[in-house]
Amino acid sequence: MPKPSIIAIDGPAGTGKSTISERLAEKYGYLFVDTGAFYRAITYVVLKGNVPYEDVDAVTAVLSTLNLRIEHDGVSSYRIIANGEDVTDHLRSKSVESHVSPISKMTVVREALLPLQRKVAAQGNVILAGRDIGTVVLPEADLKLYIDASLSERARRRHLQMMDAGKEADLDTVVNDMQRRDKIDTERSLAPLTRAEDAIYILTDNKTIDDVMQEIIQIIEHWTAT
Ligand code: C5P
Repeated sequence: MPKPSIIAIDGPAGTGKSTISERLAEKYGYLFVDTGAFYRAITYVVLKGNVPYEDVDAVTAVLSTLNLRIEHDGVSSYRIIANGEDVTDHLRSKSVESHVSPISKMTVVREALLPLQRKVAAQGNVILAGRDIGTVVLPEADLKLYIDASLSERARRRHLQMMDAGKEADLDTVVNDMQRRDKIDTERSLAPLTRAEDAIYILTDNKTIDDVMQEIIQIIEHWTAT
């Protein structure tokens, strides 16, 4: 069998899923897309326009004129272009971080992003990472992985990342923010974060990125051999 052409990777924030997906993309020459970037881009556009983000009509109006594109400049590196503006460098800002989950739970937002995500996947040899890729966006994906870690471990990793990036961060705040985001993402009525029945579950507590990579490479080799 050839390798799985469409790989769906889901899980909460801070599990290492983006780093792992990037490394897999490099190893197999697949395109990688972190779908959180699309939700973040919409959040950025809404906030920049001072649009009341809980007003469905106002957000729908933004979406009706939104032109969102992804431009790869390497298998796992890309820019996100919204209405002609390269918004990539704004996607990790504090304001985007704190508004992305409430905006992502809106039906209009999720519906607007479905075709774009499916179009990217249709190219084949792709890895899409997110929260609902295996359950809603690509239920027919060849291989589905659900990458998880305990809240304390995820917060510890995110805190380290922020410190490394020179961002001020207090561990308790990181834990609280993550918990709040998890709650919204898992409890929303549409496409909540949940493991697809046929997704392989990988718990990454006490594992290095290399350990997890080895585990996934074996899964892919096994998939290819059967
Ligand atoms: O993965 P990342 O932290 O960049 O995702 C930001 C937010 O976007 C998530 O907390 C979630 O609210 C939303 N998201 C989503 N569905 C996806 C990817 C991200 O709802 N497939």
